[in-house]
Amino acid sequence: MKIDFHVHTYYSKCALSSPEDILKTAVKKKLNGLAVTDHNTCKGYYKMRKIKTELLIIPGVEIKTTSGDIIGLGVTGEFKDVKTPEATIEIIHDLGGLALIPHPFDYLRNGIGLKIKDLKPDLIEVYNAGMMTPFGNRLAQEYVKHTSYGVTAGSDAHIIGELGAAYTLVEEGSVDDILSSLVKNRKKYFGRLSPIHWLLLRKIRSKIR
Ligand SMILES: [Zn+2]
Ligand SMILES: [Zn+2]
Repeated sequence: MKIDFHVHTYYSKCALSSPEDILKTAVKKKLNGLAVTDHNTCKGYYKMRKIKTELLIIPGVEIKTTSGDIIGLGVTGEFKDVKTPEATIEIIHDLGGLALIPHPFDYLRNGIGLKIKDLKPDLIEVYNAGMMTPFGNRLAQEYVKHTSYGVTAGSDAHIIGELGAAYTLVEEGSVDDILSSLVKNRKKYFGRLSPIHWLLLRKIRSKIR
């Protein structure tokens, strides 16, 4: 199954896509599922769950910490207080979720950077299609070789055109099956960077919203 593990709905302030449009586009792009990872909220996930679809929808949330973003996969809730990455990972684990470090080496977009060495997440995002240049993804791919973490790829789509630009390949199964097999995934993913004009368009439109 092709799963895009990093998708934003318009419940993220900087994103423009409705849950309905995301599902329609995901089907057109032949994705089998996606993780809704809005910033600090799960409202988009709850909305999407109510729409009839064949796609597998995985709950998630991209949580801002004092050092950068961390995604909780398989968790729901509102996360308004900014805590340390260590405390955030602990909360994700207490909720039974997986801690995923997205775009670790994207210093322009809240990447956690070298702080990653002090943390014990479950997964590292080794391909994020929203990176401005390929270097941050290469650094993440290189870093993960020295660890035993599982890997994911995701589009980090904030506008509909970006959806599915990167995805992770998983065996068919329920949300729980997929999340538990993900920690063993070391290389099954695909990604290409989203065109730069989309990234710029997203920046401009989020400013005027
Ligand atoms: Zn982020
Ligand atoms: Zn994101």
